Amino acid sequence: MAPTFIPGSSYDIIVVGAGLAGLRATITAAQHGRKVLLCTKTTLCSGSSFYTQMDTLHCQGVLSQEDKAVFLADIENASQGMNDPYMNRYYVDHINDRIREFPQMGVDYQALPEPKLACFAKHPHALFSWTDWAKIRANARSILAGYPNVTVMERVDAASILTQAGAVSGMVLRQEQGRLLCRKEAPPPRL
Ligand SMILES: Cc1cc2nc3c(=O)[nH]c(=O)nc-3n(C[C@H](O)[C@H](O)[C@H](O)COP(=O)(O)OP(=O)(O)OC[C@H]3O[C@@H](n4cnc5c(N)ncnc54)[C@H](O)[C@@H]3O)c2cc1C
Repeated sequence: MAPTFIPGSSYDIIVVGAGLAGLRATITAAQHGRKVLLCTKTTLCSGSSFYTQMDTLHCQGVLSQEDKAVFLADIENASQGMNDPYMNRYYVDHINDRIREFPQMGVDYQALPEPKLACFAKHPHALFSWTDWAKIRANARSILAGYPNVTVMERVDAASILTQAGAVSGMVLRQEQGRLLCRKEAPPPRL
């Protein structure tokens, strides 16, 4: 079936995926006044970030300035040279700030009272957990509905990216009923 352009479906930014990364990107872009489409092939708050088969998910934060080096060594030890050192460093430098932003996305988290061993780490670090997937999803839905410049499409698969003159010009999105075509708007001129 040939793609159909849906009138009015022009966006500055199309975010693919509604896990933590997609939610963060959508809200940040919306706060900067961009017209955003958030699409996910499943539901809002899905993917590994909201893994419903687990009672709870944890995120490891750093305990202190000193813990940064210990945490970094834990990551490097676990990754055995397969991680990007820049990203490792970025994680330990920024993760606590990012966790504090979770409520902006509807993710109510709890800080565990004591540092704890988790996942790959050989040392205990600060742990933050979230659960109650239905409540988080309802929170996120209501937060996103507060942005008139955000459209959410669930059960829509990003099938391919269209390019023109080396730049992204649109995206083919596939629904069960057929295919939709969304065109990305040209960015506003720089002043
Ligand atoms: C079982 C499990 C347990 C984990 N536990 C932890 C933990 O305790 N602590 C921790 O820090 N990390 C954990 N991780 C890793 C962590 O969950 C991920 O690194 C993180 O959630 C990734 O976030 P994300 O937003 O990039 O992707 P995800 O949360 O995976 O979201 C991906 C999104 O993209 C959508 N999508 C994918 N393809 C398409 C497409 N073609 N079109 C449209 N939508 C699409 C999906 O539907 C989904 O919404 C765990 C991972 C797993 C699998």
